[in-house]
Amino acid sequence: METLRRKIRQKLNNYEYTLNHPDTSLPYCIEHPKKVAVIGGGIAGISAACNLAERGFDVHLFEKNAFLGGKIGSWEFGSNGEKLRTEHGFHAFFRQYHNLRDFLKKLGADKHLIPIDDYVILFDKNQKQGFKGLNCIPGLNILDLRKHGVFNFFTFINPLSIPFLNLLKFDFEKTYKKFDGESFESFAKRTMMPKKMRIVFNSFARAFFAEPEDMSMAELIKSFHFYFLSNEDGLLYDVLHDDFQYTFIRYCEDFLNKHNAKIWYNTPIHELEKTEEGFMVHGRKFDYCIIASDVKHTRRLIEKSKGLENWPEVTSKFTTLKNSGRYAVWRLWTDKFEHDDNLPFFIFTDRLKCLDSITLYHKMEKTSAEWSYQNKGGIFELHCYAVPKDLIKDEDIKEAMLFELLHYMPELKGLKIIHEYFQHRDDFPAFHVNQYKNRPEIKTGIPGLYAAGDWVKMNNCTMLMEAAYTSGALAANYIFSEEGLQENPLRSVPTKGLLA
Ligand SMILES: Cc1cc2nc3c(=O)[nH]c(=O)nc-3n(C[C@H](O)[C@H](O)[C@H](O)COP(=O)(O)OP(=O)(O)OC[C@H]3O[C@@H](n4cnc5c(N)ncnc54)[C@H](O)[C@@H]3O)c2cc1C
Repeated sequence: METLRRKIRQKLNNYEYTLNHPDTSLPYCIEHPKKVAVIGGGIAGISAACNLAERGFDVHLFEKNAFLGGKIGSWEFGSNGEKLRTEHGFHAFFRQYHNLRDFLKKLGADKHLIPIDDYVILFDKNQKQGFKGLNCIPGLNILDLRKHGVFNFFTFINPLSIPFLNLLKFDFEKTYKKFDGESFESFAKRTMMPKKMRIVFNSFARAFFAEPEDMSMAELIKSFHFYFLSNEDGLLYDVLHDDFQYTFIRYCEDFLNKHNAKIWYNTPIHELEKTEEGFMVHGRKFDYCIIASDVKHTRRLIEKSKGLENWPEVTSKFTTLKNSGRYAVWRLWTDKFEHDDNLPFFIFTDRLKCLDSITLYHKMEKTSAEWSYQNKGGIFELHCYAVPKDLIKDEDIKEAMLFELLHYMPELKGLKIIHEYFQHRDDFPAFHVNQYKNRPEIKTGIPGLYAAGDWVKMNNCTMLMEAAYTSGALAANYIFSEEGLQENPLRSVPTKGLLA
């Protein structure tokens, strides 16, 4: 077994791929500061702004909200005379998020990460499927899934199952060419995917806020490679043990302030202008501009911007960017607890109609645990990653989500909702079929204009928060290299699968 493990490690390049080889003989800091506008203060914008500010650039970070963080943002709200905080939603920090975790370490925020125990899918009436104890070696972990009923003997002898081998063959060019035009739904039907395997894949597809019939099979193969088949960390991950503002964002703000960056809160940028010398943003001149807003707002920003007429093929990539369908996040402060003490903080469900996951905040977050102790009730966050077409009104979505919560945890029947915060949004990027080819890249092709976010096209294997952080850092690296400075080192999991 040890020899096999060594061979797999070797084949997968020790589970790491180096994105660049910085020339350390080049200067580290800029001598005559250049001005950079960063639009959007999510992880991507924070990443670009911090990397540039540290090197002496004159950075202005524009954020439309009153707080930084975007999809990991947190804010205060009042309810029944109490002041509470809520967040955009639960987030898992996987161990192979190398660049984001290096950043947390640099900020000193990594001490707030705590491990989650198990990756669990909940079926009705407290039936559950955990994945703890799975062999952690890529390839062998997939075979181990057999023990959990994810596939069976028939899967091996069924010739229709041969395409499953493509899961182990991730390769940017070939995988996208072959599978970006096919949806997960069609792949699952064509290969007669066993029911439990479908559930596991569905939970992957749902992490990208897509219905199976929309989700690109190429993106799903990439995600399976990134999260499961390219490292020994498996599906286990860490979470921040308190509100994101205290455990992450405030560290970024301190870092930016220390390096003299200007943070513009409550400042939505509706247009920018490309000029001879650079850019006009918010009435100021900049040498460089990095667009790090979400897809929905980026599309509008480019549509309204001036001076981009000479680059129609670039602007059309931005204006055809697609956002996902609607999703909902509902946090509930209640007077009851779940019965099963052994559940991890975050649980996927096999979804009746709309409830995809339940997070037990009273078990996970310090501030939530204090409220829970004082008020003798649990705090649950319910996610629906793709709101069904017939659920339009907030009240109908809530009713359906609550019905399903009680289906999975019948012991909560009769619960009283003491406080609640409901979000119904559609600002997640679409990873749907045939989207890859036209995705904008970090280096847009317009001099001085860069893009960053979990939606940009990159040739490294990162996704979601890690993609957001890495893209911001890569945008900064491009600017360093234009200014003759050394780049920051970045890495990812291997870009090719075990059998590629
Ligand atoms: C409910 C939920 C759960 C998730 N769970 C996970 C998870 O467990 N693990 C994981 O890795 N990822 C998860 N994600 C995905 C993750 O949150 C994102 O991939 C990541 O945070 C995206 O960062 P970003 O900077 O690219 O974009 P965003 O966070 O969307 O940031 C964009 C920023 O731009 C700002 N902005 C927009 N327009 C303008 C404008 N015109 N002017 C100025 N500012 C503007 C926005 O306010 C926002 O702050 C989850 C997402 C959601 C919604």
